[in-house]
Amino acid sequence: MGIAEKYEAVIGLEIHAQLATQSKLFCGDAASFGAEPNTHISPITMGHPGTLPKTNVKAVEYAIKLGIACGSRIENNNYFARKNYFYPDLPKGYQITQHTTPICVGGAIKIKGEDGDKIVQLNRIHLEEDAGKSIHDASAQDTYIDLNRAGTPLVEMVTEPCIHSAQDAFLFVSEVRRLVRWIGVCDGNMEEGSLRCDANISIRLKGDKKLGTRVEVKNLNSIRNIKKAIEFEIDRLIQITEAGGTILQQTRSFDANNDTTFSIRDKEYANDYRYFPDPDLAPFQLTQQYIKDIEIAMPVLPGALKNTWKSDYALSEYDVEQLCENKEEADFYAAWTKQTNQYKSAANWILGPIREYLNETNSNYKALLPFIPCLVELLDLVASKELSFSMASGKVFKAVMQQMQSPREYAKSNNLLQSNSSDEIEVWVDQVLLMHPEKIIEYKKGKKGLIGLFTGEVKKLSQGKADPTITMQLLEQKLKY
Ligand code: ADP
Ligand code: MG
Repeated sequence: MGIAEKYEAVIGLEIHAQLATQSKLFCGDAASFGAEPNTHISPITMGHPGTLPKTNVKAVEYAIKLGIACGSRIENNNYFARKNYFYPDLPKGYQITQHTTPICVGGAIKIKGEDGDKIVQLNRIHLEEDAGKSIHDASAQDTYIDLNRAGTPLVEMVTEPCIHSAQDAFLFVSEVRRLVRWIGVCDGNMEEGSLRCDANISIRLKGDKKLGTRVEVKNLNSIRNIKKAIEFEIDRLIQITEAGGTILQQTRSFDANNDTTFSIRDKEYANDYRYFPDPDLAPFQLTQQYIKDIEIAMPVLPGALKNTWKSDYALSEYDVEQLCENKEEADFYAAWTKQTNQYKSAANWILGPIREYLNETNSNYKALLPFIPCLVELLDLVASKELSFSMASGKVFKAVMQQMQSPREYAKSNNLLQSNSSDEIEVWVDQVLLMHPEKIIEYKKGKKGLIGLFTGEVKKLSQGKADPTITMQLLEQKLKY
């Protein structure tokens, strides 16, 4: 047994997602990313004496949406607490967060793990405000502070320690990103820090029930880095253990330059943050009706949609997985299949020519919506064999996209419609056979591969208009004797 097989990795993740609200969690300052430093900092954000925070209802709604999507229990009686600590990017000297009453309790997210479906159990999802940013790399001797981010709304999602590989952690965060985007509560943009992750990692001997001492790698800002950091840590922890060493409970940071981690502090004792209910914010109650109304307004979730399309449209696992990768694409497919029952063909078109077209033209599905009637007609033309798929998805599709017009009209006026009349095709077939008497002899002697040459010649002669299936049938008939 290899060393790595002796151990089981145990991973719990804390994901911070910035909620896509216009304004901050407790005041009207814009929550947008990328503004000039320190321009979104009203006295409330700065925590000046006498200012009063007020809860952003939209942020509460978004947190509830995420909880519903994860099957969490939504807490009815909520309050915000102050978590007191000093840090230069924390102007008030405390962070407003939820302490004993996370707004969402429990829940789970399903991932398609390395070996089959897995359920990642959630401990909680709570609301809190973000801190500002210390900027260390703008100057050699000074640290700059940008407080625009201070007070922007976050949810923190905390998993149970139930993930056992770097790959599964990677898949889990990918799934969370898809989900928050799908329900529109966070843009999921990791480069801008809208989604950040702390990874808690420990190892234990396989079969052990007790958790080992954990390390926590802070502020991972890409899915790749999450995976790399966890891989590195699992290795490191195993090596220490194998060498007879002791694992220290540490907070570590990831160095993306060489895919390693380094210690930023040892955590010998729990910090005392002196939590207490924020006296400026009244506790808030959520009625069942309020939660229900939010639930009713939510879009169908990817899991349910995938199942529907598999059973009602007979799509494959691969197809539905692809189509539900992002909501715009899924919505487009849904809109299109309201107008056609060629479900599989429509899926193929999306995964093929349409994606390619959107990529090339840097366009999006919204812009494509008015073209749905044209696309319906294109599917019909292919189904009735009036157009070959390559002609439809190439020349005709491009022309229709350039200038909205009926694909049938376009194909007709450019003489592109395929013939599925046997009579017409027979003329072409006969012509081709007349041109290749010696090939016919070879074919009859057993060189059956020549059928490809004949069909190719018919295609050429007909300028792509001869239906390939009928062509083949006619050729086989005529070459039989
Ligand atoms: P804190 O708030 O101090 O970071 P929590 O107890 O809330 O600690 O846990 C944070 C995360 O760490 C959770 O996702 C949890 O599942 C995970 N975790 C806790 N103990 C371990 C452990 N021994 N190994 C791996 N993950 C752990
Ligand atoms: Mg933590």
